[in-house]
Amino acid sequence: MVLKDPTLAFANAPVNNVMRLIILFSLIFSVVLLFYLRKYVRRARREKLFKMPLDVTRIAILQKYVTIYSKLPITLREELHGHINIFLDEKRFIGNLGVELTDEIRVVVAGNACLLLLQGNKRRFTGFSSILIYPNVYIAHEVQHNGLITTEQPSLRAGESWVRGPVVLSWADIRSGSVNAEDGHNVVIHEFAHKLDEQSGHMNGLPVLSNESHYKEWNKVLSEEYDALHKRAKRGKNKVLDEYGTVSPSEFFAVASESFFEKPVQMEKRLPELYKQLQAFYNIDPVSWH
Ligand SMILES: [Zn+2]
Repeated sequence: MVLKDPTLAFANAPVNNVMRLIILFSLIFSVVLLFYLRKYVRRARREKLFKMPLDVTRIAILQKYVTIYSKLPITLREELHGHINIFLDEKRFIGNLGVELTDEIRVVVAGNACLLLLQGNKRRFTGFSSILIYPNVYIAHEVQHNGLITTEQPSLRAGESWVRGPVVLSWADIRSGSVNAEDGHNVVIHEFAHKLDEQSGHMNGLPVLSNESHYKEWNKVLSEEYDALHKRAKRGKNKVLDEYGTVSPSEFFAVASESFFEKPVQMEKRLPELYKQLQAFYNIDPVSWH
């Protein structure tokens, strides 16, 4: 049996505590350092990609399939190139049901989605990385809750956006929506508007606005316009917005975003208050591109 000197053990106790504290602080310091280092590296990479010119073959794809691209002033085109470089670097595309992913698919999706980032004061699509591409419209199983009864039924879709999850898109609809830039239908703009919407924590038609003072006016105008769309749809006199916007405030914001980019002149003329709110949110003026 080894007898320890109790005075020695007692004398070592504070030293051990000090050591533990040093190790704990070193660990915390390393984690914090690693966090900021990763952030710094990502930011530096983004800045580099943003300044890089877009490949000429990719510019040709934009010119061929993204009709809005050709309407943009040259400065916005250049800004869009930078956003596309970052988008293609950070998002992961997955082909479903036999879709072979091509640069054409990637660039057409990126070109339309990044329109929502123009002049956006470093606005980005955060919280998800995957984009699933189907060849055509696809069947999703929609779950509906009615009291205690839950039903599941098949629903045909051209796209969907999962909260903090992937964006799902049909290539046939991406292409037709992108080529025709005046019908107010653009599934990429629609689904990525949902992605901006959810950044407030809820997908409810209220994205994060640039200024605290804008919320009151936004809520007033968008809820009035949402009610007005219901009324126009009932009377059969709706023109600018897709009636799918009557489904919920979140769908209203997404279809309003589609029309803002594709039917800006009609929107400004018939729904000027809504146009003004979206113009302030997106910080661009598509009417001036016409
Ligand atoms: Zn939607």
